Amino acid sequence: MSIKPLVILPDPILRQVSKPVERIDDQLRTFTADMLETMYDAPGIGLAAIQVGEPLRILVIDLSKEDEEKAPQVFINPEIVASSDERSAYEEGCLSIPDYYAEVERPASVRVTYLDREGKAHEIAAEGLLATCLQHEIDHLNGVLFIDHISKLKRDMVIKRFKKLAKDRPPSKLAI
Ligand SMILES: [Zn+2]
Repeated sequence: MSIKPLVILPDPILRQVSKPVERIDDQLRTFTADMLETMYDAPGIGLAAIQVGEPLRILVIDLSKEDEEKAPQVFINPEIVASSDERSAYEEGCLSIPDYYAEVERPASVRVTYLDREGKAHEIAAEGLLATCLQHEIDHLNGVLFIDHISKLKRDMVIKRFKKLAKDRPPSKLAI
């Protein structure tokens, strides 16, 4: 297993629409293990494959608390098939937009279909933090970021700040 470098705003990779996974094999399972390791290392509670530069419809989530046992969940080709009219707001952040948080309102509950690591199909009803997290991560698979759900003024400010940071940041890969 290995920790992968995270793709950070304003990298245009984050705007790519990810492709469905066509084959679930050992290579793909290893990749989901790498995604989990990367997420735990960050640390974060959710990660989409595109955030490590892989445009595939895969996401991992673990909502267990610090003092609880780990509860990794892998969602392959997840799809929202129903959303509630009722909405709820959470203060969201994103591993690709470090140290920035903003309140986002989304449907309070969703039904999601997906495949697990063995290729078995599931449908779950999610509410609370899981519903928000699934919607945030599925957005990533469509090239959408949580800052797209806040005001344009705030969004432009964040993008500007990260563009400046990217310019000031030393190159992450040294040619040695
Ligand atoms: Zn995110």
